[in-house]
Amino acid sequence: MRLCGFLLPLLLAAPATAETRRIAFWPDAVPAAIQKHVDGAYVHGAVRALGKFHRVQGSPGFRAAADWLTGELTAGGLADAKVEPLPADGKTSYAHFKSYLGWQATEGRLDEVAPARRTLAEFPREAVALADYSQDADVTAELVDVGAGGDAAAYQGKDVRGKIVLADGPLAAVHRLAVEERGAAGIVSDYPNQHTAWSGMDPDLVRWGHLSPYQTANRFAFMVSPRAAAALRKELASATVRLTARVRAKMVPASFDVVSATIPGSDAAAGDIVLTAHLCHELAGANDNASGSAALLGVARALRAAIAGGALPAPRRTIRFLWLPEISGSQAWLISHPDLARRLRAGIHLDMVGGRPEITHAALHLSRSAGSLPHIVNAIAAAWVADVATASTRLAETGEGDGIVWPPGGRDALVTDLRPLELGSDHQVFEAFGVPMVYFHDWPDVTIHTNKDVPDNLDATKLGRVAYMTAGIAWTLAALPDAEAARLPAIERAATDERLAVARQTALAQGWTADDTRLAEREAIAVGVEDLASIAAMWPATAAEVRRASAGLTAARPRAAGGVRDARVPERLPAVRGPIDVYYYDHLAVALGDPTRKPVALEKRDGVFAFEALNLVDGKRSVSDIRDLLSGRYAPVPLAEVAEWLDLLARAGVVKLRAR
Ligand SMILES: [Zn+2]
Repeated sequence: MRLCGFLLPLLLAAPATAETRRIAFWPDAVPAAIQKHVDGAYVHGAVRALGKFHRVQGSPGFRAAADWLTGELTAGGLADAKVEPLPADGKTSYAHFKSYLGWQATEGRLDEVAPARRTLAEFPREAVALADYSQDADVTAELVDVGAGGDAAAYQGKDVRGKIVLADGPLAAVHRLAVEERGAAGIVSDYPNQHTAWSGMDPDLVRWGHLSPYQTANRFAFMVSPRAAAALRKELASATVRLTARVRAKMVPASFDVVSATIPGSDAAAGDIVLTAHLCHELAGANDNASGSAALLGVARALRAAIAGGALPAPRRTIRFLWLPEISGSQAWLISHPDLARRLRAGIHLDMVGGRPEITHAALHLSRSAGSLPHIVNAIAAAWVADVATASTRLAETGEGDGIVWPPGGRDALVTDLRPLELGSDHQVFEAFGVPMVYFHDWPDVTIHTNKDVPDNLDATKLGRVAYMTAGIAWTLAALPDAEAARLPAIERAATDERLAVARQTALAQGWTADDTRLAEREAIAVGVEDLASIAAMWPATAAEVRRASAGLTAARPRAAGGVRDARVPERLPAVRGPIDVYYYDHLAVALGDPTRKPVALEKRDGVFAFEALNLVDGKRSVSDIRDLLSGRYAPVPLAEVAEWLDLLARAGVVKLRAR
């Protein structure tokens, strides 16, 4: 779309005397200083460097990447950069979460010996060829096709004892059924990648696979492409196929290695801003998540250099950077450092932030903090995103301005959206510990968790822009002076008006009842009140203005709905802290046995409702209060399902329910 001609004179006629700013709450010198010190080409180079390591949690490759990262931080002037090893030994627990073992692999080779002679998989030449947590093997055996291999029916009439099974079902389930229960020697798998519109269109993707890190009797699994698996199935139709597998790999006591560094704040009592990225996974794991790790490295070095060179002052709050083994490392770090965890005021998480859409089909999203944790970080993030959107669109459409680009990266306009909480990475652990986080992430990415997630898929400009926005949001949270923070209440009031309008539009479009519509209006305003409170908490000088603005909002807030109430009040039990699922660890399965089904409506939106229902448990809200907050801040959900879920959590020892 183009600007209509008649609008241009109006724009040109804007008063020249008004101060226009890129970011409403900063003089232009601040975004300019941050932009000058961020280097998208350096970030892309760091993706290439990290992409050389097979970064499985608790493996030598992860540790090598952590050491490389620490070296870059130290060289960039972040003097306290370090690697902290937290035990991952199958014995140490972090609250309810029991750690699992690490993995050391040196060799994996799968050859067909009859009827053809050829190599099917070779590790470490192809890092994803050997599934994580495979162990030593020297086997020559017949291959048996068991289809998906994920249930008992797949094995009816088939003798797999001592044989190698070919399966495309979930790896740990196939291992349990074929190897542990029926004596198979190992697995060849073409388990498909995450489902997208492009699923199945690339027959040469080899997916990264993993057996259970809790199953110390693991044998092995080799990962092959759908094309290779199809060729084996065709051969099996008319011949006996024999394979030789040789594996040198062990599950071993290891550590969740957490890299940390800080930019120290001047006021120790003001708390910390936390910036996170997970440093795993497979080689190259370029977008997931060398991209977020490298962008965060770029942020740390840029802010440090800007401060050292005098372009920015020392911040008031400490900016704390963490590179973690995904989810497990976050849980381990938060439980190991209750003193530091308590200091965290808000944060930003980066996971997959550099994909070129023409290759990965990715769109960059920014998800807001959890509905259970409203915070001004959302409005601050929106302002920095808008700055890049404006500058990049101007360059792309007119060739004017700098566009915030880093050659050889692209010159495209930044296309992104702001959306409600999405799960699937470390931010959900921090949010379960009460830290509001915004989350930059590409989705989908057709190469995720495969041999094709490589650095060439990424773009230096996109990486640099994410680093710039992340640095800007972090800098605002850490260093915004009181005089500028005085603008935030008005910005939040405008955001609340917008939230209210969106809630009403959604209610109309979805045909919500009058009661549910009123709840949505009520919570749109409640979120505004909590956002305002977060401004006063971060910048106490704004307290009087925040009080005024809150009073106005509260007066406009509709009353709560009537109807059937469940007055029981859930409260958390101390044994379970943080989220109940921690990467490979499923607390409900451990506590209640497999399989445990969550209420159907709560499973919608990828588990956000179930996750948030627990986050909303504070020992004061009733079951009905929690239902109302979920319904008002996300979408209507039946009271019976919220009650069923909280009852299930009570049976699993996560909460207890007391009568009010
Ligand atoms: Zn990731």
